[in-house]
Amino acid sequence: MIKSRAIVLHRYAYSDSSWIVKALTEECGIVSFIVKGGKRKESPFKGALDPLALSEVVFRENPNAELLFVKEASVIEWHPHLRENLLKTAKAQVMTEIVLRYAPAGVPLEGEFSLLENALAALDAVNSRSGIFARWLLGICDLWGYTLDMHTCSRCGQAIEGAPADFHPETGAFVCKNCLGVETPRARKETLDGFYALRSDNEPATPEYVENALLAYLRNHIGFMREINSLKFLNETRKLFPEVQ
Ligand SMILES: [Zn+2]
Repeated sequence: MIKSRAIVLHRYAYSDSSWIVKALTEECGIVSFIVKGGKRKESPFKGALDPLALSEVVFRENPNAELLFVKEASVIEWHPHLRENLLKTAKAQVMTEIVLRYAPAGVPLEGEFSLLENALAALDAVNSRSGIFARWLLGICDLWGYTLDMHTCSRCGQAIEGAPADFHPETGAFVCKNCLGVETPRARKETLDGFYALRSDNEPATPEYVENALLAYLRNHIGFMREINSLKFLNETRKLFPEVQ
């Protein structure tokens, strides 16, 4: 038996009474569970297998099975404040979907686990800071080998003082004021100020701009958002069904 902390990434109905639950475990990376009777009111797991919950799960490892059975599950942190806020919930769902779809499979993901655990805890704080999602995206870029150098101008190689003068999401390049000269920057001022805030450990005033820039950068590198969610979901469900019938 394995006892591990786990963050629930995704859950969907498998039958009238059961769930398929995909979780990021601290010990074994991403694991798919089948939870028989999980939808019943008297389910022993209560909120422990709700999406975005941080829980302790006990399960038996089986490298030959795609779906594992949960023996025990108990909530460590349900993130109630995060759930009350639609915007925070939406951001948390993008984080969990990116991890679920693009993190390497079949390997431990300690870095991803601690990054997501910290981001969810920060979003759950009553007076949470802005820029949590953007910092999570920067952390994912680091973990997956696409580190952004926010300190250096890509053209002259000098340290950038203050806000960068431009940012290119295709390459992740920052440009300093001197090198930009009289050119019109392609990035918006809000985006550039957002990067400066992240770099100097301040809160971005309008975090959505820098979040979108980071999402565009990641999309250029790992190709996400080109796929259609529902089609992927359908194929996944088709793959899963024969396994357990
Ligand atoms: Zn420069």
